[in-house]
Parts: sequence; structure tokens; C-alpha cells
Amino acid sequence: MSKTLQAIRGMNDILPEQTPTWRYLENTLANLLKGYGYQEIRLPVLEFTELFARGIGEGTDVVDKEMYTFLDRNNESLTLRPEGTAGCVRAVLEHGLTGGGQVQKLWYAGPMYRYEKPQKGRYRQFHQIGIEVFNLPGPDIDAELIVLTARLWRALGLADAVTLQLNSLGSSEARATYRDALVAYLQQRFDQLDEDSQRRLTTNPLRILDSKNAQTQALLADAPTLHDYLDDESRVHFEGLKARLDTLGIDYVINPKLVRGLDYYGRTVFEWVTDKLGSQGTVCAGGRYDGLISQFGGKPTPGVGFAMGVERLVLLLETLDLVPQSLSEPADVFFCAFGEAAELAALRLSEQLRDALPGIRVLVNAGAGSFKSQFKKADKSGARFALILGDDELAGRVVGCKPLRADGEQQSIAWDALAAHLATSLELA
Ligand code: ATP
Ligand code: MG
Repeated sequence: MSKTLQAIRGMNDILPEQTPTWRYLENTLANLLKGYGYQEIRLPVLEFTELFARGIGEGTDVVDKEMYTFLDRNNESLTLRPEGTAGCVRAVLEHGLTGGGQVQKLWYAGPMYRYEKPQKGRYRQFHQIGIEVFNLPGPDIDAELIVLTARLWRALGLADAVTLQLNSLGSSEARATYRDALVAYLQQRFDQLDEDSQRRLTTNPLRILDSKNAQTQALLADAPTLHDYLDDESRVHFEGLKARLDTLGIDYVINPKLVRGLDYYGRTVFEWVTDKLGSQGTVCAGGRYDGLISQFGGKPTPGVGFAMGVERLVLLLETLDLVPQSLSEPADVFFCAFGEAAELAALRLSEQLRDALPGIRVLVNAGAGSFKSQFKKADKSGARFALILGDDELAGRVVGCKPLRADGEQQSIAWDALAAHLATSLELA
């Protein structure tokens, strides 16, 4: 007995019933990004492991626990991308897109891979749509990233379901000073920390700030906060961002514990969070990473970006019943043909209709069948009209046109007049 083949755990098929919602989300965002002058970039899903180890950083959950890494046939260590930023930075450097201070406003979409415990809103293959902007150091572009996501939430009807959390991580020097202060504080309370946080105290202490452990969180209540350590430039940058958000009427909550999971962030970090999806509540997250490009050996180049989780946004749209009804588009007409000669005529006529009326949705019966069975299929297709071709119609060079969704008699329409007739009946512009 052969075992039934199954998909890999945490890697989902997106079935035809769901793809219209995905497309709706992707198209809405793609149109919006065009309006802000962003260009698409497409990147490989596989990169050398070293790219992520260096870019994301050892000591992060992603690099330490979540990567799909393997040796290829040439014994090179490759990794399925867990996120898009490192690959995008690699690409712009490799192709010299940021040389001479050139500004790049880029977006990408596609699958990402992380070996995590699958649950609602958390998968091993998931999809992100992300943005990366290079060579713009100011808070103005940070604000643009946030305002365009706010516009997306409005377009999707999600504005009331998400809140913006904001923080500044300061300069790397400020972070280092703060890290020492935090470590000193927590070292004295080492025994009260959860096991993960004890480990992070040496590997990546700032990550302790977003520990989910309640006792650890209680300890952190009196810990030094990053804001007391911010350098002047970062402070001015943060004020500039807040002023812009205030002008635009975008609400935010300052969350001094927001540190983000990846190492490369500095200054601005933000997350859009919902309380409608349980603990998988972050739908979009990003920030500034001015140090990343030089870490890869490039000239110091400011960078800022974000990524949103498509599965979580689709879940949110479904949970809140915000998927537009109009997304499922039934056929306009369904051709029923009886006999071989009629089938050939129906085939020709359907192609002529597609020529004359671009965009018309025409289904042609396949697999012959009785009058009753073809009519049943026409009805089930949701088409507004059944077009009928039998021996009589063939002889008279006409088709029977029967309304399926409204009252009305079947009409006999000459082949020559069919496109014009349907253009009017279907109100096609
Ligand atoms: P989380 O704290 O939920 O693990 P993260 O900080 O690891 O998120 P990022 O690396 O910032 O996530 O990725 C950006 C976005 O991608 C997240 O906000 C989320 O919407 C989505 N995302 C991340 N990991 C997954 C996953 N395993 N499955 C589905 N979506 C994910
Ligand atoms: Mg994660």
C-alpha cells in the first residue's frame, strides 16, 4: 500500500476559494505602491547561508532556530530565505543600485521560510509583501512608510482593527550603553528570569524586552528603559517622525519595549498590531537599518523598510468579514451545444465573442451531454445567460439566448448580432 502524499507541515496550499482574497490584497497594495513611486524587485528564495547569518545576526531566533539550511550537491550551505531584507540588500549591492547615493524605493512579495511551530497565523512557508528604501536617512521617509500602510488599512476596511506601535532604538552606541545597563540590572535578578531570557542575557539581551513570560515582564517593569539612553540625533529623528504622524492624524502608541527580532534595526522601529488574531497579532513590522549595508561591505547607506504577513492579513479580512462579495466573478454566458457541428460553431462563436468583447467571461460546455445536463451546468456556473446551439439554430445561423438570473423569454439572435446584443444585455462598456 502506498502512503498518501501530503504537504509538508506548516506549508499551505492556497486553494481557488482563497486566491481571490489574496489577489485583492496584493493588487490593492501594488496599486497603492505605484502611487507612491515604488518599484518591484524579484529575488531568489535561496541564498548562501552566510548572508542571513551575517545580516540577521547570530543569537536571533531566526538564525539560531528557524532557518531551513542544507548543503547542496556542491556542498555549499544554502538557506531558504526567512525574510526579504537581507536578500534585497545583497541584490542592490551586487548590482550597484545604491551607488553614488542613488535613492531606491523597492517592494517585493513572495514566500518566506521559517522552521516554527505551526499554528493559526504562524506557518513554515508564509508570504510577505515588503518594502525597502535606500539612501534616505530622514524621518520623512519613515513617515511615508507608515502613512502608506495606514492608507492600505483604510482601503481594506482594517483601519479600526490595527494599532501602530512605535519605538526608537537609538544609535548602535546608545544601544550598547543601554545593553550594559540592562544586563547589569537583569544579572542581579538572574534566578528570576525564564530560561530563554537567561540564555539571551549573553546572546541577545535586548530580546528579553519582548519576552512573553509574565514573571520576566514583571521584572522588566523597573528596568532601565532605552529612551533614557537615546542619543541626541536619534531623539531628533524620533521627534521628526512623531511630528509628521501627528500632522497626518495617524495615532500611535509608544512602546519602549518594542525591539524587533532581527539584529539589524536602529532608530525607528514600528509594528502594526491587531487584537483579533490571538497571539499572532503583528501584521506588519519594520524599521530603520542604517548599519546593515556597511555590515555587508558596502559604503554606509541608510535603509528603512517593513514587511507584512499576507496570511495574517487574509485571516484578519476573513475574521472581520471584510472580503468583498464582488471578488467571485461568475461567468457572463454559458454556451450549450448539441451535436458535433453545433459544438464547432459554438467554439468559433465563443472565440469571436472574446475578440469583440474583451473581458467577457464565456464558458463553453465541454464533454457534450443532454439538454438537461448542460442546462444544469449553465445554471450552476452563475452565468447570466445560456447560449443555446442545436440543429435548428445551426440551420438558421442564430443562437438561443436565455436569461438565467432574471425573468424573460428565450430570444433568437443572429450570429452577426450576438456580440452587440450581449454588449447591451450585459451592460459591457
Ligand atoms: P512574530 O513575533 O510573530 O514571530 P516576527 O517578528 O518574527 O513575528 P518579522 O520577521 O518581523 O516577524 O516578519 C514580518 C511579518 O511577517 C510579521 O509581522 C508577520 O506578520 C509575518 N510573519 C513572520 N513570521 C511568520 C510566520 N511564521 N507565519 C506567518 N507570518 C509570519
Ligand atoms: Mg518570529
